[in-house]
Amino acid sequence: MKAAVFKQLGQPLAVEDVRDPAPGEDEVVVAVGRCGICGSDLHMTADPVFGIKPGSVLGHEFAGEVVATGRAVTSLKIGDRVSVSPLRGCGKCDTCRAGHPAWCPNGKLGGGGYAQFAVAADRQCVRLPEFVSLEDGALVEPLSVALHGVAVSNLASGAKVLVVGAGPIGLGTVYWARRFGARQVVVTDLNDFQEDRAREMGATAFFATSPDIVEKVNAALGGPPDIVFECVGKPGVLAQCIEHVRIRGTVVVLGLCTAPDIFIPFRAVSKEVCIQTSAFFDYPEFCRVIDTLESRDTTPHALITGTVSLSDMPGAFESLRRRTIQCKVLVDPGG
Ligand SMILES: [Zn+2]
Ligand SMILES: [Zn+2]
Repeated sequence: MKAAVFKQLGQPLAVEDVRDPAPGEDEVVVAVGRCGICGSDLHMTADPVFGIKPGSVLGHEFAGEVVATGRAVTSLKIGDRVSVSPLRGCGKCDTCRAGHPAWCPNGKLGGGGYAQFAVAADRQCVRLPEFVSLEDGALVEPLSVALHGVAVSNLASGAKVLVVGAGPIGLGTVYWARRFGARQVVVTDLNDFQEDRAREMGATAFFATSPDIVEKVNAALGGPPDIVFECVGKPGVLAQCIEHVRIRGTVVVLGLCTAPDIFIPFRAVSKEVCIQTSAFFDYPEFCRVIDTLESRDTTPHALITGTVSLSDMPGAFESLRRRTIQCKVLVDPGG
């Protein structure tokens, strides 16, 4: 089969012929229908901190059709359409059984979606309802990450919310914040490329960063935000979020900043700011996203701005390193 293979840091992925995967006992092989290109993959192929090995195939936001099943698999059959969670827990420990495979002591992160076929444990796969497309199935993972961020924020109905960063996670956060009852959600970003898309996802105002951004946000919300979601992951953004949030408000950090970052603790302490981090999602959250898509809410589809074939994928991947008007780009390995 063909796969987009990681060669080394700072070098584009290469589309190569690799061995067709075969399922282990509790595994299935999925013919990848769509796989989302994720900012964290851009990060992982540029930053040694993640320790990605040459020869790896990334891609953890995918949906497709089951084409082979291992001997012990009873929950899935050939022909099932599934969305695949990258959280591969052991499936047996208390943490896994409680629905938190992200924190399984023997867990690992799955990938392999930038290829024609990928192998996954049966417990990583959730069947897609008939009318949820494979395109939308590829959005389940990033929407789950955003849902988890909103879930840990303890957002109360009527809350004033600010989302900093208008990438797929930021815009997914807008969507869930509104569904959890936020009355007003303002989005800020370095530029206004995603303004229309943010409004489609439920944002009530959008501002490109400017020196008077705090005043602008407060004017739009009628006061400082109760909750600020940090969805950028670059040095300096956390400090900016602390400036924005109200006294005793909450900053939820979803961004993956791997560089040292400076903020002045006094700025947070003097307002008793709660800083809450958020990583991954729980199994029930992954299922909840699919249930929401099943309710024929087509809003999240607006995140998708393009689809590329596997052969065009390495070029598309590199171009996403620069600021672009794209939001979520999907790979169609059959295209
Ligand atoms: Zn992702
Ligand atoms: Zn486990």
